[in-house]
Amino acid sequence: MTMAHEHNRRDCLAMFAKLSEYIDNELDELTCKDIEDHARHCIPCKACLETLKQTIGLCRSLAPNEKPVPEAFSKRLKALIQKIVPDK
Ligand SMILES: [Zn+2]
Repeated sequence: MTMAHEHNRRDCLAMFAKLSEYIDNELDELTCKDIEDHARHCIPCKACLETLKQTIGLCRSLAPNEKPVPEAFSKRLKALIQKIVPDK
């Protein structure tokens, strides 16, 4: 019986590839669920997703009529991703 889920980088990369669409609300419910499922087992991704959601919420409350994701935020997201999954 294993307690710790192995942190599978490929899964993480696949998740992060979807994240930018997730931010824009372009994903269907099923894909959102995929992301949330992964984050549930993957602590680094969970932390990232939480940060992401907070930032999105902040963006929306500050500028509800703007695109949900300003460019500065996309850059921040990429920096976060690289912290967790080193660029190759
Ligand atoms: Zn992960």
